[in-house]
Amino acid sequence: MKEAVVLKSTGSYYQIQDSSGPVLLARTVGKLRLLDKKLTNPIGVGDHVQYEMEAGEETNAIITGISPRKNYIVRQSPHNKHLLHLIAANIDQALLIVTVRDPMLKPGFIDRFLMMTEPQDIPVIIALNKSDLYEPDEIDLANTLCTVYKSLGYQAFLTSVISGEGLLELKEALQGSITLLSGQSGVGKSSLVNALEPNLTLRTGELSDHSGKGQHTTTFAEMLPLDGGGAIIDTPGIKSLSFNNLEILDVVHNFREIFKWSSQCKYNNCTHRNEPHCAVKKACVDGYISEIRYDHYIQILSEIEEQNHWQRKKDV
Ligand code: GDP
Ligand code: ZN
Repeated sequence: MKEAVVLKSTGSYYQIQDSSGPVLLARTVGKLRLLDKKLTNPIGVGDHVQYEMEAGEETNAIITGISPRKNYIVRQSPHNKHLLHLIAANIDQALLIVTVRDPMLKPGFIDRFLMMTEPQDIPVIIALNKSDLYEPDEIDLANTLCTVYKSLGYQAFLTSVISGEGLLELKEALQGSITLLSGQSGVGKSSLVNALEPNLTLRTGELSDHSGKGQHTTTFAEMLPLDGGGAIIDTPGIKSLSFNNLEILDVVHNFREIFKWSSQCKYNNCTHRNEPHCAVKKACVDGYISEIRYDHYIQILSEIEEQNHWQRKKDV
């Protein structure tokens, strides 16, 4: 049986590639057996699929099956809050590009992104880009963030397309791996990727549809092979992350250090806000948990409670 990797999915058609053969245009016929029923789309970028060639065609194929996934990244479907949209599958790591200026980093943005990767234990690299622009207090902030996230086991460093800071480190981190690329628009995703791989062009979030009016930005992920092996999965769709697919306990799990300390809380349903004998709060006071992280944990928790409250009211 022939196997290929999905490079791009537009909903009804897929671009797939078998080893380094030509890119084939593939479609599904009838109902494919879905691996996960809550997903709105059966196949995502990075999926390994089985296929047959269409009769008499050289570049058209029919997908006949999907291989089990090593992991996958989903986000809540914009159309149905109870369904999840499959963004990418079988990734080795994620690269989150942020900057502390132009545009300013939204508080909690990094931690919100980690809500997608933590459930699947996907390694994350955080690049704080545009370091050449940082004022001294911004350098301090960026360094603090690097220290916090490195202490949790993530890779984190400053990068700049202008000064070249961190570019070698980044290139090394990407080589040979399949990396999901994400970040708010304007942080320098295209510039960074071009600095590392001059032949690669990202479709930026600003890309307009055929009407040229620029209202509909494309939200389809795409896998772009790197020269020296490995690939980047560009995900222009992930702008604002909302997650009422999560419950409170999921959030605790996704904050590694909070989860670690939570086993010592008095109550096993402790949310680590105002409960007595909370080991997490104590660890915060004692400096074992960063205040930045704790604050973002509380923010995400409140947001989810609010969302779930309204959602449940609507569902009744
Ligand atoms: P994207 O939307 O994330 O792909 O961001 P772009 O790559 O299009 O970059 C947005 C703007 O930031 C452009 O004007 C870039 O020239 C600029 N930019 C990107 N990286 C850097 C950097 O490291 N330093 C400076 N000073 N500007 C940068
Ligand atoms: Zn607690």
